[in-house]
Parts: sequence; structure tokens; C-alpha cells
Amino acid sequence: MDLKSTKASPVLADPAPINKSRLGIHSSLLSYSQSGPSFSTSIPTRKKPGKLDDVRSNGWLDAMKSSSPPRKKILKDFNSAEVVSDEAEIAYLSWMIRYPSALNSFQTIVDRARNRKLVVFLDYDGTLSPIVDDPDRAFMSDDMRSVLKSVAKHFPTAIISGRSRDKVFELVGLTELYYAGSHGMDIIFPAKNMLSKNQLNCLKSTDQKGKEVNLFQPASEFLPMIDEVFRNLVEITKDIQGAKVENHKFCASVHYRNVDENSWPVIAQYVHDILKDYPRLRLTHGRKVLEVRPVIDWDKGKAVEFLLESLGFSNRRDVLPIYIGDDRTDEDAFKVLRKKNRGYGILVSTVPKESNAFFSLRDTSEVRILIDRYLVSSYVSLKSGETRFENCLQVQDFLESLVIMAQEDGKRDERSSEACGYDTD
Ligand SMILES: [Mg+2]
Repeated sequence: MDLKSTKASPVLADPAPINKSRLGIHSSLLSYSQSGPSFSTSIPTRKKPGKLDDVRSNGWLDAMKSSSPPRKKILKDFNSAEVVSDEAEIAYLSWMIRYPSALNSFQTIVDRARNRKLVVFLDYDGTLSPIVDDPDRAFMSDDMRSVLKSVAKHFPTAIISGRSRDKVFELVGLTELYYAGSHGMDIIFPAKNMLSKNQLNCLKSTDQKGKEVNLFQPASEFLPMIDEVFRNLVEITKDIQGAKVENHKFCASVHYRNVDENSWPVIAQYVHDILKDYPRLRLTHGRKVLEVRPVIDWDKGKAVEFLLESLGFSNRRDVLPIYIGDDRTDEDAFKVLRKKNRGYGILVSTVPKESNAFFSLRDTSEVRILIDRYLVSSYVSLKSGETRFENCLQVQDFLESLVIMAQEDGKRDERSSEACGYDTD
């Protein structure tokens, strides 16, 4: 990922896969097709952690410290002009010149999308749900659920999350959507949409309603390995107060948001030591979370391409995909849409970040406004039964009321999520 670094540490640098330079493993051993080392089903006894110099020298600690920039408050006056409260706000406003607000740039999206069919892709944590301390309590608001249900009525809508597919479905609870869990390594889609190109990698299954569906799981052979690593991580971190380990089926994560910063080097070293035994797994950094995942050529960008193809939209000029997400794993999807000039990536962020997205939104309340007030209201139904994007609204007429709504929503969300912070991309 082509993201900017500071002198001290990368602000958003996508950590390279664990490789020779990091763990002393030859890169040829990291290919997806190689036979990995055998792995047992027992939990090994806890070893003493290696030297902390290991994680210091390879940048893990720097990445951990820089992976969750502080939240900052956004102030606006009643005339919609933003009050520049500090240097950070000035930096944010400068950044918005390069990544304009999707709300204020909606006419640009309208012009591009007119008479096209929208396909909507969404991340979950930090995009649809506020960031919270406890991953099990990252609930989406009823208002957000309602607008998602509405947009899915008119346009194909998919959620691509780092969580397990089952977990994200449990949190969203809408059968109208498509779901891709484990950073796109676990995709469910209707049986009728399967194309011949994908048949080899698909399994027949049934959804929550008992309807026949297709499952695409490109990392299925890693299931036992991830399960074993998950149990090892639980065991090795059990005495570190605040540490939380999650099993996302095709990846595992170690959250250190609630861990005393003095213990971060220890937690990093524990994870580092475990990964030494698994050359077919790699580590990535999220917001105060270390994520362990298979070394395969698959990411959220590939998942977007897969879903577009599976839905029959891959080579259609009358289709406009939009992807909204807040984290670096979403950058792969932004990149796919930008590279082929296919559609628009929209980054959700309250701080400046280098991104492959075209537009920005500040927070989940603005995501909801974009979906509700713009996307849901901007379609026409065709005789064929298909819905196309057509701006039926006078966008300018909405601006004043939207700014006021955003102020009110921002205040409400700020109160509800103040000092919170959990993210699984
Ligand atoms: Mg996220």
C-alpha cells in the first residue's frame, strides 16, 4: 500500500507480510501453494518470550503505537462554517481538499452515476458501527439498520468485514445483504449468481432461511491452523490484563486497546514468537489490534472483484460500485475501484490519512446520511424491475438541513462513543 510514513513510524503503513527480513524465513516458503509445516491440535506450553529487541527492530512497536490516532472533536457553528479549533483541524481541512466530503461532492457522484446501477460495499466496524471498547458490543444503530435495509432493496449491497461472517451477520441481522467475512476470505452469495469461473472454489450451502447459496472460501485449508494459533494466542496472553483474542474463522486477532502500554512490547513479542512457527501466516496491524491471517493472494479488493463478477457486474459500464470503509484493509478495495476507474472509494476518518479513496466522510453518522438522504432517495425503478441511480433530489436544497443534521448526529454519536475504540476492519 502506498501510504505516507513519518520519520518515526509509519502512520498508516501496511506492514509487510512476515518475511525473511522479519522472522528469518525465506520468502519462498510463504507461497500459498507450498506445503506448510505440520501442526498439532494440542496447545504448547508457554515459552518465555524472545528478546524484545525483535519487535522493536522490526517496527512492530512503532506500528502498534501509530495504529490508532487519537480521536478529535469536530466543531461546527450554526452557519455551517467549520470553526478551526486547532492545528489538527486545519490539517484535516487541508486534507479534505484532496479527499472531499462525499456529502458535499454528491453532485459529482450523481453525474457519474446517472442511469447506472449502484453496487454498494461497506465495511462494518468504524463504518456502520461506532468504535467501542468491547468488540461484542459494536452494535449498529436501528437507524443505520433501517437505511441499510432500504438501500439493499434498490441496489446490491454487501458488507465486507474482518470479523467472521457469522458474527457480522449476527450484528447486522439483515438477510437482504451479501456478506463477506474474514477480510473477504469467507463469502456467501446466491446460488443463481455463480459463474463458471468460480465454480472450482465454491461450495453449496444454505443460508439462514434455508435457501441454497454458494460459499467461497479461498483459505479453507487454513482453518485448522488458524484455530490452533487462536488457542495458542489465548493461552499465551491470558495473564496480560486487558488483552482479548478473537477467532474470525480465517484469521485471528489480538486486541491490546485495553492493555497497559507498558505491556505492549510483551504482547507483541508473544505474538511474534508464535508466528515464528507458522511461516504460512502473516501479521497485519489494525487499530490497536494485531491480526494473524493466511499468506494468500486475497484481500478485500479481490473480494469486491469476486462479488462483482459473481453478481454479473464485472464488465458492465452501466454499473457503479461504491465502497465505504475506514481502515487500511479497505484500501485494497479502494485501490481496485480507483485503478480501473470503476467506481468510488469513500474513506471514513476523523484524521488525515493517505488513501486510495476518492472521497471522505467523518464518521458513521455521515455514512448513514449519505446512504439515507442521498443513495436511497436517488433511484428510479425501471420496467424491467431493475433500479437505476437517478438523482431525483435537488441536492443543494438538502445541504443546509444536512449540515444541521450532521451537527446533531455528531454530538449524539460523540456522546455515545466518547473515549471508545475497538476496530476489526
Ligand atoms: Mg473498519
